[in-house]
Amino acid sequence: MHKIIHYRNKCIGCGVCYEQQPELWRISRRDGKATLIKAIGKKDVFILPVSKDVLLKSKEIAAACPVRIIKVT
Ligand code: SF4
Repeated sequence: MHKIIHYRNKCIGCGVCYEQQPELWRISRRDGKATLIKAIGKKDVFILPVSKDVLLKSKEIAAACPVRIIKVT
């Protein structure tokens, strides 16, 4: 199974993930950081299982994140 992992506490809220993959990301109105929709979180590390279809796009976004806090496995 593939997963996206988001280390949310280091997010700077640049919006790249949301702009490129709005079906998986949103920007929180509460703190301005990105939120990985439907991910399960523990201590600000959020994990979302994903299908192979979104894997390539997710890897591109992980590479585009300026603080490199998105990992795709
Ligand atoms: S691309 Fe990275 S730093 Fe920018 S909003 Fe998304 S997770 Fe946060």
